[in-house]
Amino acid sequence: MLIIRRVFSSTRKVMTEVKEFDYLVLGGGSGGISSARRAREFGVSVGLIESGRLGGTCVNVGCVPKKVMYNCSLHAEFIRDHADYGFDVTVNKFDWKVIKKSRDEYIKRLNGLYEGGLNGSKVELIRGRGSFAEDGTIVVNGQKYRGKQTLIAVGGKPTIPNIKGAEYGIDSDGFFDIPDLPKKTVVVGAGYIAVEIAGVLANLGSDTHLLIRYDKVLRTFDKLLSDELTADIDEPTNPLNLHKNTQVTEVIKNADGLLTVKTNTGDIEGVETLIWAIGRDPLTAELNLDKVGVKTDNKGHIIVDKYQNTTAPNILSVGDDTGKFLLTPVAIAAGRRLAHRLFNGETENHLAYENIATIVFSHPLVGTVGLTEAEAVERFGKDNVTLYKSRFNPMMFAVTKHKEKASMKLVCVGAEEKVVGVHIFGIGSDEMLQGFAVAVSMGATKKQFDQTIAIHPTSAEELVTMRGAVKPE
Ligand SMILES: Cc1cc2nc3c(=O)[nH]c(=O)nc-3n(C[C@H](O)[C@H](O)[C@H](O)COP(=O)(O)OP(=O)(O)OC[C@H]3O[C@@H](n4cnc5c(N)ncnc54)[C@H](O)[C@@H]3O)c2cc1C
Repeated sequence: MLIIRRVFSSTRKVMTEVKEFDYLVLGGGSGGISSARRAREFGVSVGLIESGRLGGTCVNVGCVPKKVMYNCSLHAEFIRDHADYGFDVTVNKFDWKVIKKSRDEYIKRLNGLYEGGLNGSKVELIRGRGSFAEDGTIVVNGQKYRGKQTLIAVGGKPTIPNIKGAEYGIDSDGFFDIPDLPKKTVVVGAGYIAVEIAGVLANLGSDTHLLIRYDKVLRTFDKLLSDELTADIDEPTNPLNLHKNTQVTEVIKNADGLLTVKTNTGDIEGVETLIWAIGRDPLTAELNLDKVGVKTDNKGHIIVDKYQNTTAPNILSVGDDTGKFLLTPVAIAAGRRLAHRLFNGETENHLAYENIATIVFSHPLVGTVGLTEAEAVERFGKDNVTLYKSRFNPMMFAVTKHKEKASMKLVCVGAEEKVVGVHIFGIGSDEMLQGFAVAVSMGATKKQFDQTIAIHPTSAEELVTMRGAVKPE
Protein backbone atom coordinates (compact mmCIF):
# COMPACT_ATOMS: atom_id res chain seq x y z
CA MET A 1 0.00 0.00 0.00
CA LEU A 2 1.32 3.45 -0.97
CA ILE A 3 1.68 5.81 1.99
CA ILE A 4 2.45 9.51 1.74
CA ARG A 5 4.14 10.78 4.87
CA ARG A 6 4.74 14.43 5.74
CA VAL A 7 8.22 15.14 7.02
CA PHE A 8 9.48 18.34 8.64
CA SER A 9 13.03 19.23 7.76
CA SER A 10 14.78 20.26 10.98
CA THR A 11 16.88 22.98 9.38
CA ARG A 12 14.57 24.74 6.95
CA LYS A 13 11.23 23.75 8.54
CA VAL A 14 10.00 23.04 5.03
CA MET A 15 7.39 20.38 4.69
CA THR A 16 8.09 17.72 2.09
CA GLU A 17 6.16 14.60 1.30
CA VAL A 18 7.85 11.23 1.16
CA LYS A 19 6.11 8.67 -1.00
CA GLU A 20 6.49 5.24 0.51
CA PHE A 21 6.38 1.82 -1.11
CA ASP A 22 6.90 -1.70 0.13
CA TYR A 23 9.42 -2.08 -2.68
CA LEU A 24 11.22 0.79 -4.39
CA VAL A 25 13.23 -0.11 -7.48
CA LEU A 26 15.88 2.16 -8.97
CA GLY A 27 16.38 1.30 -12.64
CA GLY A 28 13.89 0.04 -15.21
CA GLY A 29 16.11 -2.41 -17.10
CA SER A 30 16.14 -6.20 -17.20
CA GLY A 31 16.72 -6.71 -13.45
CA GLY A 32 14.59 -3.85 -12.12
CA ILE A 33 11.49 -4.46 -14.22
CA SER A 34 11.40 -8.21 -13.64
CA SER A 35 11.87 -7.87 -9.91
CA ALA A 36 9.26 -5.10 -9.68
CA ARG A 37 6.63 -7.00 -11.62
CA ARG A 38 7.25 -10.25 -9.74
CA ALA A 39 6.94 -8.39 -6.42
CA ARG A 40 3.56 -7.02 -7.49
CA GLU A 41 2.36 -10.60 -7.97
CA PHE A 42 2.78 -10.97 -4.21
CA GLY A 43 0.53 -7.98 -3.56
CA VAL A 44 3.05 -5.42 -2.30
CA SER A 45 3.20 -1.78 -3.45
CA VAL A 46 6.00 -1.12 -5.92
CA GLY A 47 7.51 2.08 -7.30
CA LEU A 48 10.03 1.94 -10.15
CA ILE A 49 12.32 4.84 -11.03
CA GLU A 50 13.68 5.11 -14.57
CA SER A 51 15.42 8.04 -16.22
CA GLY A 52 15.71 6.68 -19.74
CA ARG A 53 13.91 4.33 -22.07
CA LEU A 54 12.12 1.42 -20.43
CA GLY A 55 13.80 -1.96 -20.81
CA GLY A 56 17.30 -0.64 -20.11
CA THR A 57 20.44 -1.66 -21.96
CA CYS A 58 19.20 -4.99 -23.34
CA VAL A 59 16.14 -3.65 -25.08
CA ASN A 60 17.49 -0.30 -26.24
CA VAL A 61 21.24 -0.56 -26.83
CA GLY A 62 22.13 -4.19 -26.13
CA CYS A 63 20.90 -7.72 -26.84
CA VAL A 64 17.81 -6.87 -28.86
CA PRO A 65 19.03 -4.31 -31.44
CA LYS A 66 22.35 -6.20 -31.54
CA LYS A 67 20.59 -9.45 -32.47
CA VAL A 68 18.61 -7.67 -35.19
CA MET A 69 21.90 -6.42 -36.64
CA TYR A 70 23.47 -9.86 -36.26
CA ASN A 71 20.54 -11.41 -38.14
CA CYS A 72 20.98 -8.76 -40.81
CA SER A 73 24.65 -9.61 -41.24
CA LEU A 74 23.76 -13.31 -41.37
CA HIS A 75 21.87 -12.56 -44.58
CA ALA A 76 25.11 -11.24 -46.05
CA GLU A 77 26.73 -14.59 -45.23
CA PHE A 78 23.93 -16.53 -46.87
CA ILE A 79 24.11 -14.32 -49.97
CA ARG A 80 27.85 -15.07 -50.18
CA ASP A 81 27.07 -18.80 -50.54
CA HIS A 82 23.94 -18.50 -52.74
CA ALA A 83 25.77 -19.20 -56.03
CA ASP A 84 27.31 -22.40 -54.66
CA TYR A 85 23.82 -23.66 -53.90
CA GLY A 86 22.71 -22.86 -57.45
CA PHE A 87 20.99 -19.52 -57.00
CA ASP A 88 21.79 -16.88 -59.63
CA VAL A 89 20.97 -13.83 -57.50
CA THR A 90 22.11 -10.29 -58.19
CA VAL A 91 22.29 -8.04 -55.16
CA ASN A 92 22.25 -4.41 -56.16
CA LYS A 93 22.89 -2.82 -52.81
CA PHE A 94 22.53 -3.07 -49.08
CA ASP A 95 20.65 -0.17 -47.44
CA TRP A 96 21.56 0.21 -43.76
CA LYS A 97 18.80 2.81 -43.35
CA VAL A 98 16.11 0.20 -44.07
CA ILE A 99 17.16 -2.15 -41.29
CA LYS A 100 17.88 0.74 -38.88
CA LYS A 101 14.36 2.11 -39.38
CA SER A 102 12.60 -1.22 -38.85
CA ARG A 103 14.89 -2.05 -35.92
CA ASP A 104 14.15 1.28 -34.23
CA GLU A 105 10.42 0.82 -34.77
CA TYR A 106 10.61 -2.65 -33.23
CA ILE A 107 12.41 -1.28 -30.17
CA LYS A 108 9.80 1.46 -29.82
CA ARG A 109 7.09 -1.19 -29.81
CA LEU A 110 9.00 -3.06 -27.10
CA ASN A 111 9.30 0.13 -24.99
CA GLY A 112 5.52 0.46 -25.22
CA LEU A 113 5.03 -3.18 -24.24
CA TYR A 114 7.22 -2.69 -21.18
CA GLU A 115 5.26 0.38 -20.12
CA GLY A 116 2.00 -1.51 -20.71
CA GLY A 117 3.35 -4.39 -18.62
CA LEU A 118 4.21 -2.11 -15.72
CA ASN A 119 0.83 -0.38 -15.89
CA GLY A 120 -0.91 -3.75 -16.11
CA SER A 121 0.85 -4.98 -12.99
CA LYS A 122 0.22 -1.66 -11.24
CA VAL A 123 3.84 -0.81 -10.67
CA GLU A 124 4.04 2.97 -10.22
CA LEU A 125 6.46 4.34 -12.79
CA ILE A 126 8.48 7.33 -11.59
CA ARG A 127 10.26 9.18 -14.38
CA GLY A 128 13.60 10.82 -13.62
CA ARG A 129 17.10 10.25 -12.31
CA GLY A 130 17.32 9.05 -8.72
CA SER A 131 20.01 9.24 -6.07
CA PHE A 132 20.08 8.53 -2.35
CA ALA A 133 19.62 11.14 0.39
CA GLU A 134 21.13 10.66 3.85
CA ASP A 135 17.77 9.65 5.32
CA GLY A 136 17.71 6.58 3.02
CA THR A 137 15.14 7.98 0.63
CA ILE A 138 15.71 8.26 -3.09
CA VAL A 139 15.28 11.74 -4.51
CA VAL A 140 13.91 12.17 -8.03
CA ASN A 141 13.30 15.69 -9.36
CA GLY A 142 13.14 16.99 -5.76
CA GLN A 143 10.57 14.41 -4.67
CA LYS A 144 11.53 11.88 -2.01
CA TYR A 145 10.64 8.20 -2.22
CA ARG A 146 11.21 5.52 0.40
CA GLY A 147 11.05 1.75 0.13
CA LYS A 148 10.70 -0.67 3.01
CA GLN A 149 13.00 -2.63 0.72
CA THR A 150 14.98 -0.79 -1.96
CA LEU A 151 16.48 -2.43 -5.03
CA ILE A 152 19.32 -0.85 -6.98
CA ALA A 153 19.44 -2.10 -10.58
CA VAL A 154 21.03 0.78 -12.47
CA GLY A 155 23.22 -1.25 -14.84
CA GLY A 156 26.27 0.26 -16.47
CA LYS A 157 27.65 2.30 -19.32
CA PRO A 158 30.46 1.77 -21.86
CA THR A 159 34.01 2.63 -20.80
CA ILE A 160 35.79 5.36 -22.77
CA PRO A 161 39.59 5.32 -22.49
CA ASN A 162 41.62 8.26 -21.32
CA ILE A 163 43.43 8.83 -24.62
CA LYS A 164 43.98 12.04 -26.56
CA GLY A 165 41.17 12.33 -29.11
CA ALA A 166 39.06 9.53 -27.56
CA GLU A 167 36.02 11.80 -27.87
CA TYR A 168 36.08 11.37 -31.66
CA GLY A 169 35.05 7.76 -31.15
CA ILE A 170 31.64 6.42 -30.21
CA ASP A 171 30.64 3.54 -27.91
CA SER A 172 28.28 0.58 -28.31
CA ASP A 173 25.31 2.85 -27.53
CA GLY A 174 26.41 5.11 -30.40
CA PHE A 175 26.71 2.10 -32.72
CA PHE A 176 22.92 1.91 -32.74
CA ASP A 177 22.69 5.55 -33.84
CA ILE A 178 25.01 5.21 -36.86
CA PRO A 179 22.88 6.59 -39.73
CA ASP A 180 24.57 4.68 -42.56
CA LEU A 181 27.07 1.86 -43.02
CA PRO A 182 30.53 3.42 -42.49
CA LYS A 183 33.02 2.85 -45.31
CA LYS A 184 35.83 2.22 -42.84
CA THR A 185 35.49 1.35 -39.15
CA VAL A 186 37.86 0.69 -36.29
CA VAL A 187 36.50 -1.29 -33.34
CA VAL A 188 38.67 -1.40 -30.23
CA GLY A 189 38.21 -4.29 -27.79
CA ALA A 190 38.53 -8.06 -27.50
CA GLY A 191 35.41 -8.90 -25.51
CA TYR A 192 32.11 -10.16 -26.81
CA ILE A 193 30.61 -6.75 -27.58
CA ALA A 194 33.66 -5.80 -29.67
CA VAL A 195 33.70 -9.01 -31.74
CA GLU A 196 29.95 -8.89 -32.25
CA ILE A 197 29.82 -5.29 -33.46
CA ALA A 198 32.94 -5.70 -35.61
CA GLY A 199 31.52 -8.90 -37.14
CA VAL A 200 28.26 -7.20 -38.07
CA LEU A 201 29.97 -4.24 -39.72
CA ALA A 202 32.55 -6.34 -41.56
CA ASN A 203 29.99 -8.79 -42.93
CA LEU A 204 27.74 -5.96 -44.10
CA GLY A 205 30.62 -4.48 -46.10
CA SER A 206 32.36 -1.89 -43.94
CA ASP A 207 36.17 -2.14 -44.12
CA THR A 208 36.42 -3.08 -40.44
CA HIS A 209 39.53 -3.26 -38.28
CA LEU A 210 39.40 -4.95 -34.88
CA LEU A 211 42.15 -3.77 -32.55
CA ILE A 212 42.97 -6.09 -29.65
CA ARG A 213 45.43 -5.38 -26.88
CA TYR A 214 46.84 -8.93 -26.71
CA ASP A 215 46.90 -11.77 -29.22
CA LYS A 216 43.45 -13.32 -28.66
CA VAL A 217 39.81 -12.29 -28.58
CA LEU A 218 37.48 -13.58 -25.82
CA ARG A 219 40.43 -14.26 -23.52
CA THR A 220 38.24 -15.12 -20.52
CA PHE A 221 36.44 -17.88 -22.43
CA ASP A 222 37.62 -21.49 -22.74
CA LYS A 223 40.89 -21.66 -24.67
CA LEU A 224 39.28 -23.62 -27.50
CA LEU A 225 36.78 -20.84 -28.16
CA SER A 226 39.31 -18.05 -27.84
CA ASP A 227 41.79 -19.85 -30.13
CA GLU A 228 39.22 -20.85 -32.75
CA LEU A 229 37.53 -17.47 -33.06
CA THR A 230 40.85 -15.62 -33.17
CA ALA A 231 42.17 -18.00 -35.84
CA ASP A 232 39.01 -17.67 -37.92
CA ILE A 233 38.99 -13.87 -37.77
CA ASP A 234 42.64 -13.97 -38.84
CA GLU A 235 41.80 -16.02 -41.98
CA PRO A 236 41.76 -14.05 -45.25
CA THR A 237 38.23 -15.44 -45.87
CA ASN A 238 36.94 -13.55 -42.82
CA PRO A 239 36.15 -9.96 -43.85
CA LEU A 240 37.32 -8.60 -40.49
CA ASN A 241 40.89 -7.24 -40.23
CA LEU A 242 42.45 -8.24 -36.93
CA HIS A 243 45.26 -6.15 -35.40
CA LYS A 244 46.84 -8.09 -32.53
CA ASN A 245 48.92 -6.60 -29.71
CA THR A 246 47.65 -3.19 -30.75
CA GLN A 247 46.85 -0.24 -28.52
CA VAL A 248 45.50 3.13 -29.58
CA THR A 249 47.79 5.98 -28.57
CA GLU A 250 45.94 8.95 -30.09
CA VAL A 251 42.99 9.78 -32.32
CA ILE A 252 43.19 12.71 -34.73
CA LYS A 253 40.25 14.26 -36.56
CA ASN A 254 41.31 15.49 -40.00
CA ALA A 255 39.94 18.40 -42.04
CA ASP A 256 37.84 15.98 -44.16
CA GLY A 257 36.14 14.71 -40.99
CA LEU A 258 37.84 11.31 -41.18
CA LEU A 259 39.94 9.99 -38.31
CA THR A 260 43.51 8.86 -38.04
CA VAL A 261 43.79 6.18 -35.36
CA LYS A 262 47.38 6.14 -34.14
CA THR A 263 48.53 2.90 -32.52
CA ASN A 264 51.72 1.26 -31.30
CA THR A 265 51.66 -0.92 -34.43
CA GLY A 266 51.04 1.88 -36.96
CA ASP A 267 48.46 4.44 -38.05
CA ILE A 268 45.07 3.57 -39.50
CA GLU A 269 43.97 6.38 -41.83
CA GLY A 270 40.62 7.41 -43.30
CA VAL A 271 38.50 5.99 -40.49
CA GLU A 272 34.87 7.05 -40.72
CA THR A 273 33.77 5.50 -37.43
CA LEU A 274 35.78 4.53 -34.36
CA ILE A 275 33.99 2.40 -31.77
CA TRP A 276 35.27 1.86 -28.23
CA ALA A 277 34.14 -1.53 -26.90
CA ILE A 278 36.68 -2.02 -24.13
CA GLY A 279 34.37 -2.75 -21.21
CA ARG A 280 31.57 -1.34 -19.09
CA ASP A 281 31.47 0.67 -15.87
CA PRO A 282 28.64 0.44 -13.30
CA LEU A 283 26.42 3.51 -13.08
CA THR A 284 26.87 3.81 -9.34
CA ALA A 285 29.04 6.93 -8.95
CA GLU A 286 26.14 9.39 -8.93
CA LEU A 287 23.93 7.46 -6.50
CA ASN A 288 25.45 8.82 -3.25
CA LEU A 289 25.80 5.24 -2.03
CA ASP A 290 28.18 6.33 0.74
CA LYS A 291 25.35 8.33 2.33
CA VAL A 292 23.42 5.11 3.01
CA GLY A 293 26.29 2.71 3.70
CA VAL A 294 26.21 0.74 0.45
CA LYS A 295 29.77 -0.34 -0.28
CA THR A 296 31.27 -0.82 -3.72
CA ASP A 297 34.47 -2.49 -4.94
CA ASN A 298 37.29 -0.54 -6.54
CA LYS A 299 35.51 -0.58 -9.91
CA GLY A 300 32.30 0.80 -8.44
CA HIS A 301 30.38 -2.50 -8.50
CA ILE A 302 27.96 -2.87 -5.62
CA ILE A 303 29.09 -5.54 -3.17
CA VAL A 304 26.32 -8.07 -2.52
CA ASP A 305 26.08 -11.41 -0.74
CA LYS A 306 24.49 -14.49 -2.28
CA TYR A 307 21.02 -13.16 -1.40
CA GLN A 308 21.70 -9.85 -3.26
CA ASN A 309 21.90 -7.97 0.09
CA THR A 310 24.18 -4.93 -0.06
CA THR A 311 26.16 -3.78 2.99
CA ALA A 312 23.20 -1.57 4.03
CA PRO A 313 20.08 -3.08 5.63
CA ASN A 314 17.05 -3.42 3.33
CA ILE A 315 18.97 -2.18 0.30
CA LEU A 316 19.55 -4.81 -2.37
CA SER A 317 21.10 -4.92 -5.79
CA VAL A 318 20.92 -7.12 -8.90
CA GLY A 319 22.23 -7.02 -12.44
CA ASP A 320 25.19 -5.38 -14.15
CA ASP A 321 25.89 -2.95 -11.31
CA THR A 322 26.95 -5.92 -9.15
CA GLY A 323 29.54 -6.92 -11.78
CA LYS A 324 28.59 -10.61 -11.91
CA PHE A 325 27.83 -12.21 -15.30
CA LEU A 326 26.69 -9.11 -17.17
CA LEU A 327 23.80 -10.79 -18.96
CA THR A 328 20.11 -10.08 -19.19
CA PRO A 329 18.79 -13.50 -18.09
CA VAL A 330 21.09 -13.29 -15.05
CA ALA A 331 19.70 -9.89 -14.02
CA ILE A 332 16.15 -11.16 -14.59
CA ALA A 333 16.63 -14.40 -12.65
CA ALA A 334 18.35 -12.63 -9.73
CA GLY A 335 15.62 -9.96 -9.64
CA ARG A 336 12.74 -12.42 -9.72
CA ARG A 337 14.22 -14.75 -7.12
CA LEU A 338 14.83 -11.78 -4.89
CA ALA A 339 11.16 -10.82 -5.12
CA HIS A 340 10.22 -14.36 -4.11
CA ARG A 341 12.58 -14.21 -1.14
CA LEU A 342 11.48 -10.77 0.06
CA PHE A 343 7.75 -10.96 -0.49
CA ASN A 344 6.76 -14.61 -0.71
CA GLY A 345 8.47 -16.04 2.35
CA GLU A 346 10.99 -18.07 0.30
CA THR A 347 13.85 -17.27 2.63
CA GLU A 348 16.50 -19.32 0.82
CA ASN A 349 15.58 -18.39 -2.74
CA HIS A 350 18.56 -16.90 -4.58
CA LEU A 351 20.50 -17.22 -7.82
CA ALA A 352 23.50 -19.54 -7.59
CA TYR A 353 25.44 -17.95 -10.53
CA GLU A 354 26.54 -21.32 -11.92
CA ASN A 355 26.14 -23.03 -15.26
CA ILE A 356 25.12 -19.84 -16.98
CA ALA A 357 24.94 -20.43 -20.70
CA THR A 358 25.80 -17.67 -23.12
CA ILE A 359 26.31 -17.12 -26.83
CA VAL A 360 28.63 -14.69 -28.55
CA PHE A 361 27.02 -13.61 -31.79
CA SER A 362 30.30 -13.52 -33.62
CA HIS A 363 31.01 -14.84 -37.11
CA PRO A 364 31.26 -17.83 -36.54
CA LEU A 365 29.23 -18.22 -33.37
CA VAL A 366 30.56 -19.12 -29.94
CA GLY A 367 28.59 -20.83 -27.17
CA THR A 368 29.59 -21.75 -23.64
CA VAL A 369 28.10 -23.15 -20.44
CA GLY A 370 29.74 -24.21 -17.21
CA LEU A 371 33.42 -24.37 -16.37
CA THR A 372 36.25 -23.70 -18.77
CA GLU A 373 39.05 -26.25 -18.89
CA ALA A 374 41.24 -23.92 -16.81
CA GLU A 375 38.50 -23.38 -14.19
CA ALA A 376 37.86 -27.12 -13.90
CA VAL A 377 41.57 -27.84 -13.45
CA GLU A 378 41.81 -25.16 -10.79
CA ARG A 379 38.73 -26.39 -8.93
CA PHE A 380 39.15 -30.18 -9.21
CA GLY A 381 42.84 -30.74 -10.02
CA LYS A 382 44.30 -31.79 -13.35
CA ASP A 383 44.08 -35.52 -12.62
CA ASN A 384 40.34 -35.33 -12.09
CA VAL A 385 39.57 -33.54 -15.35
CA THR A 386 38.92 -35.33 -18.66
CA LEU A 387 38.31 -33.58 -21.97
CA TYR A 388 36.57 -34.62 -25.16
CA LYS A 389 37.17 -32.58 -28.27
CA SER A 390 35.93 -32.56 -31.83
CA ARG A 391 36.79 -30.40 -34.85
CA PHE A 392 34.94 -30.86 -38.14
CA ASN A 393 33.52 -29.24 -41.28
CA PRO A 394 29.84 -28.43 -40.82
CA MET A 395 27.75 -29.79 -43.69
CA MET A 396 26.49 -26.29 -44.53
CA PHE A 397 29.93 -25.62 -46.04
CA ALA A 398 30.48 -29.04 -47.67
CA VAL A 399 29.43 -27.72 -51.09
CA THR A 400 30.46 -24.07 -50.80
CA LYS A 401 33.71 -22.36 -51.68
CA HIS A 402 33.64 -20.58 -48.32
CA LYS A 403 34.74 -22.98 -45.59
CA GLU A 404 34.16 -22.67 -41.88
CA LYS A 405 35.16 -25.04 -39.11
CA ALA A 406 33.17 -26.11 -36.07
CA SER A 407 34.81 -27.14 -32.85
CA MET A 408 33.54 -28.54 -29.55
CA LYS A 409 34.82 -29.46 -26.14
CA LEU A 410 33.29 -31.26 -23.18
CA VAL A 411 34.93 -30.70 -19.81
CA CYS A 412 34.27 -33.68 -17.50
CA VAL A 413 35.27 -34.35 -13.89
CA GLY A 414 35.70 -37.37 -11.66
CA ALA A 415 35.54 -41.09 -12.37
CA GLU A 416 31.89 -40.75 -13.41
CA GLU A 417 32.87 -38.02 -15.91
CA LYS A 418 30.26 -35.50 -14.89
CA VAL A 419 30.02 -32.90 -17.67
CA VAL A 420 30.79 -29.54 -16.07
CA GLY A 421 31.49 -27.53 -19.21
CA VAL A 422 30.27 -27.50 -22.82
CA HIS A 423 32.04 -25.19 -25.27
CA ILE A 424 31.02 -24.93 -28.90
CA PHE A 425 32.25 -22.92 -31.86
CA GLY A 426 30.60 -22.71 -35.25
CA ILE A 427 27.35 -22.43 -37.13
CA GLY A 428 24.24 -23.35 -35.15
CA SER A 429 25.85 -22.96 -31.73
CA ASP A 430 23.25 -20.39 -30.70
CA GLU A 431 20.24 -22.68 -30.92
CA MET A 432 22.22 -25.78 -29.91
CA LEU A 433 23.42 -24.76 -26.49
CA GLN A 434 20.28 -24.23 -24.39
CA GLY A 435 19.34 -27.92 -24.22
CA PHE A 436 22.87 -28.91 -23.29
CA ALA A 437 22.78 -26.26 -20.55
CA VAL A 438 19.81 -28.14 -19.06
CA ALA A 439 21.85 -31.36 -19.11
CA VAL A 440 24.84 -29.68 -17.46
CA SER A 441 22.71 -28.06 -14.75
CA MET A 442 21.09 -31.46 -14.06
CA GLY A 443 24.54 -32.96 -13.53
CA ALA A 444 24.59 -35.22 -16.59
CA THR A 445 27.58 -37.51 -17.14
CA LYS A 446 29.47 -38.25 -20.34
CA LYS A 447 27.87 -41.71 -20.31
CA GLN A 448 24.42 -40.13 -20.33
CA PHE A 449 25.47 -37.89 -23.23
CA ASP A 450 26.65 -41.03 -25.08
CA GLN A 451 23.39 -42.88 -24.38
CA THR A 452 21.44 -40.08 -26.07
CA ILE A 453 20.65 -40.99 -29.67
CA ALA A 454 22.20 -38.49 -32.07
CA ILE A 455 20.17 -36.31 -34.43
CA HIS A 456 21.62 -36.84 -37.89
CA PRO A 457 22.86 -34.96 -39.81
CA THR A 458 23.50 -32.01 -37.51
CA SER A 459 26.49 -30.38 -35.86
CA ALA A 460 24.87 -31.00 -32.48
CA GLU A 461 25.20 -34.77 -32.84
CA GLU A 462 28.95 -34.39 -32.27
CA LEU A 463 28.19 -33.51 -28.65
CA VAL A 464 26.71 -36.97 -27.99
CA THR A 465 29.15 -38.99 -30.10
CA MET A 466 32.57 -37.75 -28.98
CA ARG A 467 35.20 -40.39 -28.24
CA GLY A 468 38.83 -40.37 -27.18
CA ALA A 469 39.30 -38.79 -23.77
CA VAL A 470 42.29 -36.49 -23.37
CA LYS A 471 43.84 -34.90 -20.32
CA PRO A 472 44.29 -31.14 -19.89
CA GLU A 473 47.66 -29.86 -21.12
C1 LIG B 1 25.98 -4.09 -26.99
C2 LIG B 1 25.47 -5.01 -25.92
C3 LIG B 1 25.02 -6.27 -26.27
C4 LIG B 1 24.54 -7.14 -25.31
N1 LIG B 1 24.10 -8.36 -25.70
C5 LIG B 1 23.62 -9.23 -24.79
C6 LIG B 1 23.12 -10.50 -25.17
O1 LIG B 1 23.14 -10.86 -26.34
N2 LIG B 1 22.64 -11.31 -24.21
C7 LIG B 1 22.60 -10.94 -22.90
O2 LIG B 1 22.13 -11.72 -22.08
N3 LIG B 1 23.08 -9.74 -22.50
C8 LIG B 1 23.57 -8.87 -23.41
N4 LIG B 1 24.03 -7.64 -23.02
C9 LIG B 1 24.05 -7.33 -21.57
C10 LIG B 1 22.67 -6.90 -21.06
O3 LIG B 1 22.19 -5.84 -21.84
C11 LIG B 1 22.79 -6.48 -19.60
O4 LIG B 1 23.41 -7.51 -18.88
C12 LIG B 1 21.44 -6.19 -18.97
O5 LIG B 1 20.77 -5.17 -19.66
C13 LIG B 1 21.63 -5.79 -17.50
O6 LIG B 1 20.41 -5.45 -16.91
P1 LIG B 1 20.35 -4.47 -15.66
O7 LIG B 1 18.94 -4.45 -15.23
O8 LIG B 1 21.39 -4.82 -14.71
O9 LIG B 1 20.77 -3.04 -16.24
P2 LIG B 1 20.17 -2.20 -17.44
O10 LIG B 1 19.43 -3.03 -18.39
O11 LIG B 1 21.30 -1.41 -17.97
O12 LIG B 1 19.11 -1.25 -16.74
C14 LIG B 1 19.47 -0.23 -15.87
C15 LIG B 1 18.46 0.89 -16.00
O13 LIG B 1 18.67 1.81 -14.94
C16 LIG B 1 18.49 3.13 -15.42
N5 LIG B 1 19.22 4.03 -14.54
C17 LIG B 1 20.57 4.06 -14.34
N6 LIG B 1 20.87 4.98 -13.38
C18 LIG B 1 19.70 5.53 -13.01
C19 LIG B 1 19.37 6.54 -12.07
N7 LIG B 1 20.29 7.14 -11.31
N8 LIG B 1 18.06 6.89 -11.96
C20 LIG B 1 17.10 6.29 -12.70
N9 LIG B 1 17.36 5.31 -13.60
C21 LIG B 1 18.65 4.94 -13.75
C22 LIG B 1 19.05 3.07 -16.84
O14 LIG B 1 18.51 4.10 -17.65
C23 LIG B 1 18.62 1.68 -17.29
O15 LIG B 1 17.38 1.72 -17.97
C24 LIG B 1 24.50 -6.74 -23.95
C25 LIG B 1 24.95 -5.46 -23.59
C26 LIG B 1 25.44 -4.62 -24.55
C27 LIG B 1 25.92 -3.26 -24.15
